[in-house]
Amino acid sequence: MSNRPVRLGVVGTGYVGLTTGVCFAHVGHQVVCGDIDARKVDLLNSGHIPIVEEGLETMAADARAAGRLQFVLGAEEAARGADIVFLCVPTPQGDDGSADLSYIQQAAAQIAAVLEPGAVVVNKSTVPVGSTVAVERVLGRDDVRVVSNPEFLREGTAVHDFLHPDRVVIGSADRGAAEQVAELYASIDTPILITDPASAETIKYAANGFLAMKISFVNAVAAMCEAVGADVAAVVDGIGSDQRIGNQFLRPGPGWGGSCFPKDSRALVKIADDHGYDFSMMRGVIDVNEEQLERMVDKITVAAGRVAGESLSGVTVAALGLTFKAGTDDLRESPALSIIGVLRSRGATVRAFDPTTVGELRPHQSVVLEGIELVDEALDVAAGADVVAVFTEWPEFAKVDLDQLAGRLRAGITIVDTRNLLDPVAVREAGLGYDGVGRR
Ligand code: NAD
Repeated sequence: MSNRPVRLGVVGTGYVGLTTGVCFAHVGHQVVCGDIDARKVDLLNSGHIPIVEEGLETMAADARAAGRLQFVLGAEEAARGADIVFLCVPTPQGDDGSADLSYIQQAAAQIAAVLEPGAVVVNKSTVPVGSTVAVERVLGRDDVRVVSNPEFLREGTAVHDFLHPDRVVIGSADRGAAEQVAELYASIDTPILITDPASAETIKYAANGFLAMKISFVNAVAAMCEAVGADVAAVVDGIGSDQRIGNQFLRPGPGWGGSCFPKDSRALVKIADDHGYDFSMMRGVIDVNEEQLERMVDKITVAAGRVAGESLSGVTVAALGLTFKAGTDDLRESPALSIIGVLRSRGATVRAFDPTTVGELRPHQSVVLEGIELVDEALDVAAGADVVAVFTEWPEFAKVDLDQLAGRLRAGITIVDTRNLLDPVAVREAGLGYDGVGRR
């Protein structure tokens, strides 16, 4: 390659694409990000970052001021003249559990004609085994190579994760193309694992499957703790100090959710199934998660004074937190919303506070929140509530003034703490009931 800076195109400016584009520009590359959503592109061009992601706004502003980052409408404009093009478009769950590749195929078709000879196209979206070949087929270009470079960032810490990853995985049948992509990460201090495309694609699904398994495991252990009278915090401490197990990602909660684990765990089962392997363990992981959501519904129902499964007509649930975890505004497949959906279908009224839904809702939030009464202050959820549920581990909920909260609630109301965020003793001292997950 010549000495001129590498030009990167990024297709899709969502959580992954925007982080990828901004971070690559931050480390010195020349980046053009394109999206088909004109409103998003306008917002980005006016200096606004449409998602909640710490650090992104300042870094994007700095990179734009330095002339290294542009936002354009459409995939073609992002890919035109680029040496390397990252596809960061959605791969949602299809009807049969498989990953829906239509966005990837559409993006590949859009850029095919404008790609420079010798360009490299990178699948950064999470895509099933065989997608490198599938994209090559759509591109129909002998002079362009396709590489897999799955992304492992976590929403809420996306910038940190991109700049300090545990590893970068690159899968390609063409060593030269893989090394070209590896070179982009030269200033990032991390091991780079170059492998074949099928292994790279499998690594991403296996990683998410394993993480989902850890959470399902600890949730199952928490259920057992409740049955036998053990305390899950002590159990996690005890097992987590074994270095073979480790103490990360062993926090009980309402069940996993978000834009990745639900679809990726199902896609993993489907990919295995399509290739003749019944991944029954992963099916079990998914089943445990569904049971966990039901267990939370039952806890809230019982705390509201009803029998599990009974109608919740006349019951008002005060919900603290809506996003699938703290630090993000992402509501996709949020356990809070799954649980609230069941409560509402049984007749409950839900009043909720989430720090990311205060004021004007972001476009991707408004539809999924229909039917939920939103308030602008945490304590305002309390009025007339029959039960309080903590759904998201926002740090500010751990600091909520329990006496003030209790002052706004009827005597004897219970807080169902699906994140084990609050101090049970302090809650009880404030005159409220407490029920956590696997906690004595
Ligand atoms: P997202 O929905 O936030 O963003 C996708 C963007 O792509 C949207 O802005 C959409 O308008 C745009 N888009 C769709 N088709 C396009 C086209 N033809 N041309 C230009 N833009 C187009 O999605 P996301 O959360 O960033 O996820 C993207 C991929 O990365 C998925 O495969 C996901 O599984 C994977 N992934 C996500 C995360 C995460 O935490 N969100 C982490 C790792 C991997």
